[in-house]
Amino acid sequence: MFIDVHSHLDICEEVSTKIQNAKKENVKIVTCGINPESNRKTLEIKKEFPKVEICLGIYPTDTLKISDKEIDSEIKFIKSNKDKIVGIGEVGLDLKENEEKTLQKQKDNLSKFVKLAKKLNKPITIHSRKAEEECVNLLESFGYNKIIMHCFSGKIKLVEKILENNWMLSIPTSVKHSEQFQKVIELAPIENLLCETDSPFLHPDKKFPNEPKNVIESYKKIAEIKKISLKEVEKKLEENYRKLFKDN
Ligand SMILES: [Zn+2]
Repeated sequence: MFIDVHSHLDICEEVSTKIQNAKKENVKIVTCGINPESNRKTLEIKKEFPKVEICLGIYPTDTLKISDKEIDSEIKFIKSNKDKIVGIGEVGLDLKENEEKTLQKQKDNLSKFVKLAKKLNKPITIHSRKAEEECVNLLESFGYNKIIMHCFSGKIKLVEKILENNWMLSIPTSVKHSEQFQKVIELAPIENLLCETDSPFLHPDKKFPNEPKNVIESYKKIAEIKKISLKEVEKKLEENYRKLFKDN
């Protein structure tokens, strides 16, 4: 079984076709919510397609659009759905779309989600665009290790830090043409790798939209770089997935 640990089915079109396509290719899907509305849509998808696994969270940019009260109430909502979710996400810090002056607010919000993940003992999927070092430092302060750094584009020394902490790195399908992600595969032991599509984004051939069945492109790249068979990558990453998501 192949696993796409990070996608956004709630913003994809023709969701049932995409789920069918994935099923045909033996791809399991984890889809992540990004705000209160998206979390509810994601729960609807879970209801209609029980084999799809879900994470709920609030994307960093979205946390800045709502009040502290709304964030706290969403955290309560997520907690009340804890039996339906496999993890927390997508959450994190973003300094590409947000100004530096929002950083403290973003950190406060992310901290709430890390505490939630810790309390539920579930993995947390982290977005860290242009705030990679800030993310790693904040996460380290919690001493919580069920962490997936999604689409991580930080410096090599931060990748090394992530590996020292024994966190996971999920490799997007854009790795096909991205030296940055190819380098991450080279550096990381296979025990620290997972794969993702971030559908509908990050298409392996820079098209739009991406879909979960394409996650195989990331697996192929790992097989090529690690010089092992695709079958072996499939087996190892399924073990990684089960260890992280199911041993709750
Ligand atoms: Zn995402």
